[in-house]
Amino acid sequence: MPRKDKAKKKPAAASVRELLRVGPDFDPAAMDARRVLAGPADKAQALAQVGALAGEVTALQERLYAESKGGGKRRLLVVLQGMDTSGKGGAIKALDRIVEPLGMRVAQFGAPTKAELKKHYLWRIEQKLPPPGTIGIFDRSHYEDVLVVRVRNLVPPEEWEKRYDEINAWEKKWSDDGVVFLKCMLFISPAEQKERLLARLAEPDKRWKYRPGDVDDRLLWNDFMTAYQAALTRCSTDYAPWYVIPSDRKWHRDWLLTHMVAETLREMNPQFPSPDYDVAAETKRVMAS
Ligand code: AMP
Ligand code: MG
Repeated sequence: MPRKDKAKKKPAAASVRELLRVGPDFDPAAMDARRVLAGPADKAQALAQVGALAGEVTALQERLYAESKGGGKRRLLVVLQGMDTSGKGGAIKALDRIVEPLGMRVAQFGAPTKAELKKHYLWRIEQKLPPPGTIGIFDRSHYEDVLVVRVRNLVPPEEWEKRYDEINAWEKKWSDDGVVFLKCMLFISPAEQKERLLARLAEPDKRWKYRPGDVDDRLLWNDFMTAYQAALTRCSTDYAPWYVIPSDRKWHRDWLLTHMVAETLREMNPQFPSPDYDVAAETKRVMAS
């Protein structure tokens, strides 16, 4: 019998996360934001597959919550970063399709307030960490403190330079405390961003999403990419890796992100706690009541 020639086959990535994980040579300039990297190449099919994850994900989520009731500290934190219009809001809507809202905590980070600026930059982030048993989603994050802050010189270089190590140490501390990080950069091309910004201006019901400052950031695209490259390569660790999601196609972005979340929860494999009471004795008591 002829043997199948396995040597010629490209080895399939074990997981979506493995496919998207940032390596030391990550270069935004070499990224293709339109590429379909895994899953269906067809919008309708991709969206159907996202929806089909809901049952499994909510079951895992219930187990995670139950685990925390038994004293477990694990929680999932999805960190979303990306340029304006990269689809952070859309990605959260996709997660909302597969996650039970009761166990989901969304936090958005805009420019810090005067009061926040008086404190350490990680302070406001720490306030929003998801409690054990839940799934947190960050729409922007502490990474702005080495992205926009670096690009716009909001603090001197010696200040932001030390933040990379500080962020790694902070993430290590929280990872040891049960936070499972899933840090995702939604990567769009400058051409796609232009179209999305123009669409926001053209449609009256999208104009509220537009800020004149978006163009100022856009004009600094290359500086932002340099800052992203530094942040993602220096802060992609075993305990809190970075992933880059090609996001010019919204349905593909959603497919990749939701499958990464499902994969992570499966791997976490949360466990129902054993009851801290005698089940047989309690059953008797209830029957007799
Ligand atoms: P958006 O997410 O589009 O609503 O915009 C939020 C804005 O807040 C973006 O322009 C961010 O760059 C900005 N922002 C977020 N975090 C910080 C920070 N730590 N320092 C300065 N600006 C920030
Ligand atoms: Mg914006």
